[in-house]
Amino acid sequence: MNSSYDNKVVLVTGSSRGIGASTIEVFAKNKFNVVINYVNSESKALSLKEEVEAKYGVKALVVKADVSKEEEVKRLVDVTLSEFGHIDVLVNNAGIAIDTTLEDKTVDNFRKILDVNLIGTFLMCKYVGEVMMKQGYGSIVNISSTNGIDSYYAYSMDYDASKAGVISLTHNFANLYAPNIRVNSIAPGWVNTEMNKELGEDYINDECKHILLGRFAEPYEIAEFIYYIGVEATYVNDAIIKVDGGRC
Ligand code: NAD
Repeated sequence: MNSSYDNKVVLVTGSSRGIGASTIEVFAKNKFNVVINYVNSESKALSLKEEVEAKYGVKALVVKADVSKEEEVKRLVDVTLSEFGHIDVLVNNAGIAIDTTLEDKTVDNFRKILDVNLIGTFLMCKYVGEVMMKQGYGSIVNISSTNGIDSYYAYSMDYDASKAGVISLTHNFANLYAPNIRVNSIAPGWVNTEMNKELGEDYINDECKHILLGRFAEPYEIAEFIYYIGVEATYVNDAIIKVDGGRC
């Protein structure tokens, strides 16, 4: 980790809302300067910047970039370096899901999910990893999902495959970047975010019966664990950790 405590930098992809926005908040609270990446919601990204700068006295950079596009990823990394000069922590959070029956699954949508969730994580690990290797330090947290470990919900088979791929990438990059850079993955279960806004009440209640804690997570509960793994857990490396309230 960078020795200058007040000058630490985290880059969180897809961070204008949901788990990503909570992650920005937790890192800012811990005095990290933050890079807020968005693809559509500029106004949400800008108000998050205003909020964390005012509340925590850190610097926030807002960068529009689609993580599935190589040129945009390179630009995101370049703009971050021009502003801050280094990157301590990368959180690969950007993700999409398009749940449908098998009949409605299309190759185009399958590819779109792989492009964002898997190729996006790959590109970020590659280009931010290059920077971290030059620095000689860094930490990467890839957001997978319990769906990438236990695939029981066929409506999201494309998403599940992409998240299984994220776990595989985590192992490969952890090996490639050792010993100075830690690469870990967390696999959240259900989280109360817009990604799940289409779920019906009956379905949610039924799912909660299979969670030992009896409820979905709140985004901050995932974000605090991302901070712990990314910053504090200095001997945790190449790990895939479920954060799902316990499944039964
Ligand atoms: P969300 O939909 O609120 O957030 C996803 C974010 O990714 C959005 O801000 C979106 O704009 C951004 N994004 C999408 N495509 C992008 C692209 N091409 N480039 C850059 N950003 C892009 O959902 P969330 O629940 O906060 O999801 C965050 C991460 O957590 C995702 O990777 C998701 O798969 C994972 N996850 C979520 C749950 C859950 O139950 N919500 C469970 C397990 C894992």
